[in-house]
Amino acid sequence: MRAGTERRHLRVTGTVQGVGFRPFVYRLASDLGLAGQVSNDSLGVLVEAEGDAESLDALERRLPAEAPPLASVHSIEVEALPARGDSGFRIVDSRASAAPAVAVSVDAATCDDCLAELADPADRRFGYPLVNCTNCGPRYTIIRSIPYDRASTTMADFVMCDPCRREYEDPADRRFHAEPTCCARCGPQLSLIGPDGEPLAKAEEALVRAVDLLRGGGILAVKGLGGYHLAADAADDRAVAELRRRKARDAKPFAVMIDALTAGRRLCLLSPEVEAALASPRRPIVLAPRRPSAPVAAAVAPGLAELGLMLAYTPLHHLLMRGMGRPLVMTSGNRSDEPIASDDADAVERLGPMVDAILLHDRPIHIRCDDSVVRARPSGPVQMVRRSRGFAPEPIALARPARRHVLAVGAELKNTVAVAKGTSIVASHHIGDLEHLAAYRSFLQAVDHLCSLTGVTPAVVAHDLHPEYLSTKYAADRDLPLLGVQHHHAHIASCLVDHGRDDRVLGVAFDGTGLGTDGSIWGGELLVADLDGFTRVGHLAGVPMVGGDRAVREPWRMALAWVAASCGAAEAARYGQEADERWALVLDRLTAPGALVTTSAGRLFDAVAALLGLRTVVSYEAQAAIELEAAAAAEPLLSGTGYEVTGRHEAGADGEPPQLVLDPAPLIREVVGARRRGEPVATASAAFHEGLGRAVASAAASLAAEHGLGTVALSGGVFQNARLTAVVEHVLAEAGLEVLVHRHVPPNDGGISIGQAAVAAR
Ligand code: ZN
Ligand code: ZN
Ligand code: FE
Repeated sequence: MRAGTERRHLRVTGTVQGVGFRPFVYRLASDLGLAGQVSNDSLGVLVEAEGDAESLDALERRLPAEAPPLASVHSIEVEALPARGDSGFRIVDSRASAAPAVAVSVDAATCDDCLAELADPADRRFGYPLVNCTNCGPRYTIIRSIPYDRASTTMADFVMCDPCRREYEDPADRRFHAEPTCCARCGPQLSLIGPDGEPLAKAEEALVRAVDLLRGGGILAVKGLGGYHLAADAADDRAVAELRRRKARDAKPFAVMIDALTAGRRLCLLSPEVEAALASPRRPIVLAPRRPSAPVAAAVAPGLAELGLMLAYTPLHHLLMRGMGRPLVMTSGNRSDEPIASDDADAVERLGPMVDAILLHDRPIHIRCDDSVVRARPSGPVQMVRRSRGFAPEPIALARPARRHVLAVGAELKNTVAVAKGTSIVASHHIGDLEHLAAYRSFLQAVDHLCSLTGVTPAVVAHDLHPEYLSTKYAADRDLPLLGVQHHHAHIASCLVDHGRDDRVLGVAFDGTGLGTDGSIWGGELLVADLDGFTRVGHLAGVPMVGGDRAVREPWRMALAWVAASCGAAEAARYGQEADERWALVLDRLTAPGALVTTSAGRLFDAVAALLGLRTVVSYEAQAAIELEAAAAAEPLLSGTGYEVTGRHEAGADGEPPQLVLDPAPLIREVVGARRRGEPVATASAAFHEGLGRAVASAAASLAAEHGLGTVALSGGVFQNARLTAVVEHVLAEAGLEVLVHRHVPPNDGGISIGQAAVAAR
């Protein structure tokens, strides 16, 4: 042993298994001339390295800095040990490690090395549509149980051929312990089948015929990482309109797949942040402002100022895109709002009637996982809209460790579930709207799967207060202690978690609907909140909401309610006659005693969109609000000409402090006047956003001052509206307040389980 030799023990935690971390450590340590070993255990990766102090320091520095793309190092703890005189560095095979404390990694887009092989005629994986390695490919979607090794994935039945086995066992190879590794000889095969499941072609011929079909204007179902897509030529008006007809989808936008950023730049205006999001191995759909000249069919995103772009992320996508040479519509493989198909038999049954052929392979998908969606903001980083493939089940760090194991079952729409344990929350993929039986089944599967992957034995189940949510009913059926978390408190808590915070803030929760503690429907709330609790200190003025779900699907009903409340019965009758023949009936019920009252900001957006003649009936959630924002796209952000919203103080309901009530009645009167005078919708929409935004921000600022708070958190689905958010942020920043806007956790109900988990962890 040379003089000056030291030995150090490095404990690495985070997402460090199944991501090529041990071979990375092996190469790094060998480069630095260090001796010792690296192994996996239940806490992460353990390194014992021996050599001179300078090389050991370099190892400590370079481990987090140069970690493989899918790894995420949370901490490295270093301890000095007596030197042992080791020679050489080795990887210890540590299959025996058991307890599931290690994060399961996320599915990742095909890496550059694999793409190079895919395109190289001399490579043995040339043109093989399932090529992957330690840095890329399926993970979460194929893992049945832990510990993560091939036998516990849906690749278990594929026996590696000799060349694949040699790569898998060679510490110096980039496929060392790449669990889903395979090749054309030993791995899953591509095939093309007809709408009834009849075989049409295999391997290369399947691909050639699929491309021909798309080029000829046909519709193709394609198996992806977490489920099926429906594909069509994005520039073909007839094909896209036909896809819309067959999918029974009136208006909801379709995502467009591209094969390179250059193609994306022809379709949309891309900021550096947006390009980074598009190109990241997580490969979400990115909603970005479209170019007026974007060469896509009109039916791709009717009436919208944005397009959803997504870069190809599986080798099969790359092969299809290469064959096509132009963008493809890639929309979720489902009919209307059902969950996407992920099982092959289910795909034939449900998608068969909608397509001309199905392109698939025989690697099963264990967990259905939709594409994630992020949205470009006017400046700064993108905002999460749907956190699913590529993000789930990556842990989200808690400011303070959870005091107990928590299961949080989320809301009813856009459902996700989450667990809390130790210093993190792990949230599931997007499950969807629980009213669909298939989605509810996925919910049950997700709860079990998430608990087993993370080793969580729940000590408490956190749920929404709404007794009719299926997630709430499920919680009540578990024989465990329960914790009801108010919907808007959960929203604000999810925003705190997003920023790694747990202090007290003034929370603005604007969304569609959520049950309040007083039995009314909240959705325009100002709360003093932290992770321990909340007090309601203000809200939008309430109006009656009649017709239940119909009030959401038919925005003219909310418009009628707001006109009646703001302008009186005569004006309401005038609007009603223009809007819908059932108006008199609805008006009667609005004025009847005992009508359900809502303070929802989402419903106010619906009402204004309807009043401006944009939409009296919607075909998907928030459509009217999204179109209202789009209508103002060309208007300057802060012109100083916002419509008026008045503030007044009212006594609080039982146990509540006095409330600051924001009344949009003057704003509604201005909207009605603008419509009557035939003013441009763009101007009116901009004045609405600015007026509401300024009023909310001033109210939040004065309440924050009153309660001695320096931070305002903005949450709820309405804060996906970039225009409103920008106005509120601007005014609050001018008032010297810190503003927390959602980044990695969705502001909509997809983030509710995360907020619930954080509250219950305390
Ligand atoms: Zn790769
Ligand atoms: Zn092979
Ligand atoms: Fe909500």
